[in-house]
Amino acid sequence: MSHISDAIRKLREELPSGVTLVAVSKFHPVEAVIEAYGAGQRVFGESRPQELYSKIQALQSMQEDFSDVEWHFIGHLQTNKLKLVLPYVSMVESVDSLHLLSAIEHWGAANGKDVQVLLEYHIASEDTKQGFSREEILTLLTGDAATGHFPHVRIRGLMGMATFTDDESVVRNDFARLMSLYEEIVALKESGIYKDVLKDFDTRSFGMTHDYRIAVEMGADMVRIGTLIFGERVYF
Ligand SMILES: *Cc1c(COP(=O)(O)O)cnc(C)c1O
Repeated sequence: MSHISDAIRKLREELPSGVTLVAVSKFHPVEAVIEAYGAGQRVFGESRPQELYSKIQALQSMQEDFSDVEWHFIGHLQTNKLKLVLPYVSMVESVDSLHLLSAIEHWGAANGKDVQVLLEYHIASEDTKQGFSREEILTLLTGDAATGHFPHVRIRGLMGMATFTDDESVVRNDFARLMSLYEEIVALKESGIYKDVLKDFDTRSFGMTHDYRIAVEMGADMVRIGTLIFGERVYF
């Protein structure tokens, strides 16, 4: 058995049934996606618009039917790239600014589509990672979003990336902050005040190759795993 299908099979055995595995195929050729597909994987993550678009085109040009592949966009998305991404993805996990959320709403309205998104919560201690602060997320949900500014956006939950470190306590601390904000938002949802904007809020996407076990233990229901499945990324 190849490494890719072997890794997917092992992950499927290991992950609890309620956890969605997003296979992160960025920086790997479309052949790797096809191999994972052959092993039963259906949800894939990409972080660059052009690369995502090229892979979708390549799959569409093939004889085999890959139409049940579900793509998640997980990288920084510039608003001038929306048309390469939004027609093809089932979720944008990496909404990291009000500006992007507004542009997605605009695209959804113009195209008559609802777009599923996660809000990226900046939990890592590095400054380089994208994302909202806790205050920004709460302000967004109880302000603009609650008052109906984003009718074509379905806010499905939170996404986060822990600090890149071998110190497990730091990673646990980052993930705990995401879980705590998630629970705070679910309490708002249950209060009934924000039930329209929060009605679809049910997803916690955190955990990657080096920390997915901790993530699952702490309550993630979506993990995004690249290297463990596909090997080291190939820059092409
Ligand atoms: C690349 C990437 C992943 C996967 O990382 P691995 O360490 O290869 O598992 C997950 N999430 C995001 C947002 C990424 O950019």
